Amino acid sequence: MAKLKWSFSNSRLFKKCQRQWFYKNHFQKWQAKEGTPEREAYVLSTLQSISAWRGQIVDQTISRNVINGLNKMEQPTLLKSLNYAKYLYDIQLEYALEHNAKQPGMSKSQAGNSFAAFYKIEYEGHMPKEEYEKAWIEIEEALTNFYKMESLKDLLKLANQRIPQRSLIFDYSDTNVIAMPDLICFYDNQSPLIVDWKVHAFGVKDYRLQLALYAIALKRCKPHSDFPKLLSSYEDKDVSLLEVQLLTNQQREYTLSMDDIIQTQNYMTESITQMQLAGSENPKKTVPDDYSTTNYPEACLICPYRKLCWEVTCQN
Ligand code: SF4
Repeated sequence: MAKLKWSFSNSRLFKKCQRQWFYKNHFQKWQAKEGTPEREAYVLSTLQSISAWRGQIVDQTISRNVINGLNKMEQPTLLKSLNYAKYLYDIQLEYALEHNAKQPGMSKSQAGNSFAAFYKIEYEGHMPKEEYEKAWIEIEEALTNFYKMESLKDLLKLANQRIPQRSLIFDYSDTNVIAMPDLICFYDNQSPLIVDWKVHAFGVKDYRLQLALYAIALKRCKPHSDFPKLLSSYEDKDVSLLEVQLLTNQQREYTLSMDDIIQTQNYMTESITQMQLAGSENPKKTVPDDYSTTNYPEACLICPYRKLCWEVTCQN
């Protein structure tokens, strides 16, 4: 196996189901021959829940329309953002409803903006109209809430650099740690700000650990060429962190202590060690069956690889 790649979302997935983690990170191959399990795993890896899709459209609209607009000194209006979101919603929904992800040779990167595939369609055969109509109503609601957040908009305008969806990579315990915050803002006279958009109906979960990891990644990654020199004068605990719940209209600021940084590092070390120890002793011969299945049966109901996994499990 190649050098281990670790991210917060992958650590959560590994905790939930080691075998699902293996399918996603080491088994699926887009370039594999049609009809092979590796190719099938790639196609399955592209499946999304409707709620994840809804959140992705909101993220893409804020990043591409609002943030990039502000970077070009434009004033992106709510109407313009809603029109852009509706454009993404329409082309992606059409792509998914026409089952285009099942076409031989499908490549997610080639499909670009149009790509969407839902596991409800794969596993239940159809997507009820009321579910995707509800998703649009929630996209509208999330973007409208965003435009009403005056203090947040002021923070964004005040920044002299706003960088959406930038990947931050650093080496830790012989592993590539990867983090991609939704937005990084740099200022002349204050510490950097990391913002994470959430489009969840309840928004009760605490994201301190995930945001702490972003702060650590910002400080430890090889700085991108457009990062300001001033970044080196701040410590990871100085980075301001903001979780923005766009559906419930809440914002949570996190202030990090040295304890938070240590706890986050401990979490990473423990998770990386578990991943390194899992599977077979010969990484080149590792197969999905070498990884344990989930202890949470409900996880299988929303697992994109169910088809493959249950085939393997039933053959044994
Ligand atoms: S179907 Fe269940 S056990 Fe199999 S990979 Fe998915 S979550 Fe894990």
